[in-house]
Amino acid sequence: MSNAVPFPSNTRVMSFSGLSEDVLHQVLSQLPDPKTFAATIRASKQLWNIRCAHPKSIARSVAENTCGHPEVLPAALRLVRKVIKGDDADDETEPEDEVENGIVIPQEPPETEILDIPITREEADLLDNYGQVVRLLQDVYSWRHKDRTSATSQLTPAEALHFKRGMYRFWLYCECYSPPEYYAEVNSDAREAARERAADEFLRLLPAEHLFEMAAAAAFCAEMYEWNHTAWNSTDLSHLPASLARGRSCLGPRLIWEDFENLGCDQPENADNSGFFWTSFERAVTHLQLGQQTRDDRLAHAIVKEVVGTNDSCDRCHAVRGTDLWGSTDWPLLRGFISLIDFTTFLPGRLPKNTTETRPLLNRLGSEFWVTGVPRAKADELITSVMEEIIDMEVDGGGIWTRDGWYCLECVHELLKERLWRWWYAKKRDDGTPEMPSCWYGYNCRTMIHRQAHAAKLNHLCVPTRGDP
Ligand SMILES: [Zn+2]
Ligand SMILES: [Zn+2]
Repeated sequence: MSNAVPFPSNTRVMSFSGLSEDVLHQVLSQLPDPKTFAATIRASKQLWNIRCAHPKSIARSVAENTCGHPEVLPAALRLVRKVIKGDDADDETEPEDEVENGIVIPQEPPETEILDIPITREEADLLDNYGQVVRLLQDVYSWRHKDRTSATSQLTPAEALHFKRGMYRFWLYCECYSPPEYYAEVNSDAREAARERAADEFLRLLPAEHLFEMAAAAAFCAEMYEWNHTAWNSTDLSHLPASLARGRSCLGPRLIWEDFENLGCDQPENADNSGFFWTSFERAVTHLQLGQQTRDDRLAHAIVKEVVGTNDSCDRCHAVRGTDLWGSTDWPLLRGFISLIDFTTFLPGRLPKNTTETRPLLNRLGSEFWVTGVPRAKADELITSVMEEIIDMEVDGGGIWTRDGWYCLECVHELLKERLWRWWYAKKRDDGTPEMPSCWYGYNCRTMIHRQAHAAKLNHLCVPTRGDP
């Protein structure tokens, strides 16, 4: 026991004199993060003394709280130690052996020994910082895969443990084995071979359950990358093949999260399109000798054990779609499935090619965000209000579509085909665009595509009265 560290003199002193040392130790162990912990021990001399008497165990408890679960801490701590070590290595000049430098051989130190070394304040702060990203990712994961009615995590404690541990390990995997940023560094075959061996070893050492939860976290990062790509994309190529998204998930959880929040989509220089993570996963999983169906099932259920509303069906076509249903609480997530360019393709006839209509329509749907950047909340609000306005329209007898209904993606497409052009016509009137005479050929007009003067002079958001039916 040592009270050698002096108690800060300029602090307001709180008294816990009625409480035993055990209880106060418990109080400190329950604090959620290093900042609260630092503030608390400065508020009471008794707490300060207890912290000085048990610095390691209390720091460890707070770190466990920061990560969300004691069993997550080893994986999280290993990540932050790799990051700190990596930053230090950047300061050194000219590493002597390129193969050894920059590649952590995963079993040194293994997670089982990582807690033997006490946690420093720098590590505690970094755990807090990384923990926030993982918690926010968990919210989106839960929204998309557990309970579509809530944008904050509804995972059970056991599901959250799988998610977090898998995510921290995938993050470490990205830190260690992502392709190097510059092509020059790739050219060492020895380095590449060492990287591949180390990556395989990392996965081979995991118990099967942990291997699948890590793969589920990796799959989610690829899914989010794909989502970002579609939500951000301003070209016809809105949808990225899943294999490319998997390769680009080497960006790691933080960048993918930041892109999600800011409607961006980073393009990693050297993304390995031949299967970042997944080739090593294939080799690791082959050792388990499982049938394809068992493997697929274990991957699909590695994190969430029970989905809320798993048998819910579409209110229009009655297809059972569970979390793949769209409605009032998850319209914001639709942006990763229907890009803004996709929206314009739902206009009838030849209107998708009439830029006199599509440019301002895209603008109304938020295309300026591509250039200006915008926090996600604003884009979420916009898509929600657009979808609700379209649903509320009193056309074609209404009926099927209601604000509190749930619809599958195919039916959402039908809704947009039926009503987007009418909504856009009404919006233009609301925005003060003067009424123009309707072209006889309506939305099927050919002239509007190649003669801008014609497109600007007449209204084409109308049913044709001549020409093609
Ligand atoms: Zn449907
Ligand atoms: Zn016309």
